[in-house]
Amino acid sequence: MSSFDTDSSNVVLPSNLSLPDYVPLRRDAVRDFEDQFRQTTTDDIYSAQLLQVKSMAEHYITYIMSNSHLNFSEKTLEEYIKTFENLSKVQQESHKLKQIHDLPNIRSFSSRETQELTLDSLDEFHAANQPNFTDVIRQEYSNVKTRSTSNDASREFYTFLRSVLFVCKNPEDAIPDEKSSNDDDDDDDEINISGGKVSLKDPITLNYFETPVLSKRCKHTYEESSIRTHLRTNNTCPISGCSAMLTLGDLKPDKLMRIRIRSAIRVEKRHDKNLETVV
Ligand SMILES: [Zn+2]
Repeated sequence: MSSFDTDSSNVVLPSNLSLPDYVPLRRDAVRDFEDQFRQTTTDDIYSAQLLQVKSMAEHYITYIMSNSHLNFSEKTLEEYIKTFENLSKVQQESHKLKQIHDLPNIRSFSSRETQELTLDSLDEFHAANQPNFTDVIRQEYSNVKTRSTSNDASREFYTFLRSVLFVCKNPEDAIPDEKSSNDDDDDDDEINISGGKVSLKDPITLNYFETPVLSKRCKHTYEESSIRTHLRTNNTCPISGCSAMLTLGDLKPDKLMRIRIRSAIRVEKRHDKNLETVV
């Protein structure tokens, strides 16, 4: 470039120095571009979509819970759950494709010099007797194991979403344990349950929960005001048999219990209404 500045006064440059709209790419370059495009763009989109569904569902839950006259639509929750599942599935498939792409025998296939198929080379093609690339891919694809690709936050939220739907239908039932294999730190074996039922009452005052809080240490739930009072003079969980050390910092709002209460009230109201119509 710099040589142009010094002694190129009589070089005639083309009048239009901009690139034409279309520049044919070399085959290799096209492939590199496709690889990059497929691997980064689609992954980003799936992750963004998962976050979006998570955010939509969170808004929905917050909206319902901050309007005391509203109730959850089971249908809506189910749709969120399904969307979540489908997106995770697509993300997993995309990861499988990526894994296959990196396998040695697939790599060798795609890096092989491709000869142009003409009438002259036809015999050579037949003689080579190569396996069909599509079949090879299909074979490898069926061998790749599906593994979860969603991050912990979205998996956790998915579990929460399913729990919300469950307690909407069964406000007083314990959440059935689905995943037992990938949970090594099993320190949270549902202690709130008595005979398969979850108590909707504060263990200290025995009144129904209004602002339930959960102990992060032992997963026990209490009414906020009563545990605050208890912790003024104690530093352990008030549940008999539980010796967990407890401070105010170990407590967090028990969202699921609030949803249980809301759903229990709805079920009760529906029951009352039925009685009215019977009478
Ligand atoms: Zn406890």
